[in-house]
Amino acid sequence: MKIHFFGTCAGTEPMSGRNHASLAVESEKTIYWFDAGEGCSRTAHLMGIDLLNVSKIIISHTHLDHVGGLCNLLWNIRKLSVMRKQQPIRGKLDVYIPNMETWKGMEMILHNTEGNFKKDFSLDVCEVREGVLFEDENMRVTAFHNSHMTRFESDNCLSFSYLIECEGKKIIYSGDVGEYKDLDMMLEQGCDALIIETGHFGIDEVYKYVSDKKIGKLLFSHNGREILNYPKEAKEKVKKYFADSAVICEDGMTIEV
Ligand SMILES: [Zn+2]
Repeated sequence: MKIHFFGTCAGTEPMSGRNHASLAVESEKTIYWFDAGEGCSRTAHLMGIDLLNVSKIIISHTHLDHVGGLCNLLWNIRKLSVMRKQQPIRGKLDVYIPNMETWKGMEMILHNTEGNFKKDFSLDVCEVREGVLFEDENMRVTAFHNSHMTRFESDNCLSFSYLIECEGKKIIYSGDVGEYKDLDMMLEQGCDALIIETGHFGIDEVYKYVSDKKIGKLLFSHNGREILNYPKEAKEKVKKYFADSAVICEDGMTIEV
């Protein structure tokens, strides 16, 4: 399967060449989209990704560096669907989001766009809860609550990391975490790839955390100041610690797993 990176920057002020967090896992032509930071659908479309192959959009939490491009993504999918008189790949689109209040606001924004956002495919929106989010013929995704965001009074969890099981492989997407230990349970059996946020932690902390874990490929994303401000030094450090098993991901990059 392929992992496409559309945005690899943490929630910083605008940075040259990097947009906020967004990536997708592609299996059997179906695209599973994880987080939707600003400009993600534009980047993907210009990379040659067919947005009508997206079947599910999964959000880790509703901070703007993860949802700032969600309305645009949905708008672009509808736009292509109208232009090409073609529905998204499964005739419907599922969105999983941890905070329905945020969704209600977005729904209103979309409703007030052209044609009241009328479309000939269904859009099912579901609140993320701990446990298996969905299982289809290609993929199973399990949500694990993490400590990045505190709970509302309703006691709903608001920020998640995801275990993605696909084509016999295990991929973990950290989302944003409160501490790396949040990932302990997911990493008990190891994984083929860990997409790890470095927005709140440095490369030394990643090294310390993963050194006793079984991880095939380490993919740095949601990158923070150490990588953004000192890219050359960061690359050298990553090479020294992890040799070829780690990659500092960039916008527009595709990795085979
Ligand atoms: Zn973030």
